Amino acid sequence: MNITFPHLGNVYIVAKAFLEELGHEVVPPPVPSKKTLEIGIKLSPEMMCLPFKVCMGNYIESIENGADTILITGSCGPCRFGFYSNMQEYILKDLGYEVDMITLESPREGFNEFKENVGKLIGSNSIINIGRNIKPALDLIKQADDLTQLSNNIRAYAIDKTEVNSIMDKYYNQAMETYGIKQIVELIQDTEIKLKDVKINKDYQPIKIGIIGEIYTIIEPFVNLEVERKLGEMGVLVEKSLTPTAWFKHHVYSYPFGSKEEKKKFKLAKPYLETLVGGHGRETIGSAVHYKNIGYDGVIQILPLNCMPEIVAKSILKTVGEDLKFPILTLVVDEMTGEAGYMTRLEAFVDLITKRKEKYRVG
Ligand code: SF4
Repeated sequence: MNITFPHLGNVYIVAKAFLEELGHEVVPPPVPSKKTLEIGIKLSPEMMCLPFKVCMGNYIESIENGADTILITGSCGPCRFGFYSNMQEYILKDLGYEVDMITLESPREGFNEFKENVGKLIGSNSIINIGRNIKPALDLIKQADDLTQLSNNIRAYAIDKTEVNSIMDKYYNQAMETYGIKQIVELIQDTEIKLKDVKINKDYQPIKIGIIGEIYTIIEPFVNLEVERKLGEMGVLVEKSLTPTAWFKHHVYSYPFGSKEEKKKFKLAKPYLETLVGGHGRETIGSAVHYKNIGYDGVIQILPLNCMPEIVAKSILKTVGEDLKFPILTLVVDEMTGEAGYMTRLEAFVDLITKRKEKYRVG
């Protein structure tokens, strides 16, 4: 089988390596672009959320590159993500694409289906081969996320920010050319050394901003218009509240109980929102409180237009910001989002936080 999956930030690095270790021919999803989005818009229902459209475009590009199987995770709860795979499979079949869709749902949603789908992925691999690769693959998720965060940290202090960007661009490109877990681990280690060699201003005191909101939007740079890089170039130290590592910890390692970190966020959100609203709406509220508690200067919520869970969170964040006297900016993205307006809002927010900090320092 020639397998692909949706592009989601750095996830392709880990997924590609793991699937290669299982002996699959992997067609890595192309980095989303305007062309991806244009294809996705044409094939998706108009009011569908942005991640659906980008994924659709991504699938077509991968199919044109030879993919015949698509791997996607499933979901339950009040959010459209639970319908993604069924709807996307239906649209693809209607267009005449004969692709197999492997949807990894939680075993709670049907153990036999889960077993069948895992079976397709495992194929004729021996238990020994799977066991040998699972731990390195799980470690790799963290290594890849740690490297992204290291680049965010160094970019904030770097004297020449473009140096960090070019190291990371090279890493992302080379990751497409590697094969298996060992090669990608070596590439990550090599990139880490290069990042640590970048000249920094050690006395600089960056403002710190947490990125919160809908998971796909905050992880995929094409959809969030490279928010981490843009803020880093302004000298801001930035961290995302949700990463592939956090998702795995919560949904896979700690299944069925959930991770300690996410449970802590539910607790922090509780005075404002007690129930599940789908997606990561509750985590968004908890993350805002968390970033305030750990001394961040503000948070930016990013959500796709029409994202119900995040619309609920957005309406509550106003109260959170007022209660905690904590700056919160909300950015809504869709296919019409223009870079210039987006940049202006980011700059104005950074400006506001900088002035606010100076005022408290003087006062
Ligand atoms: S969280 Fe929002 S954007 Fe993401 S799939 Fe659900 S409804 Fe769509």
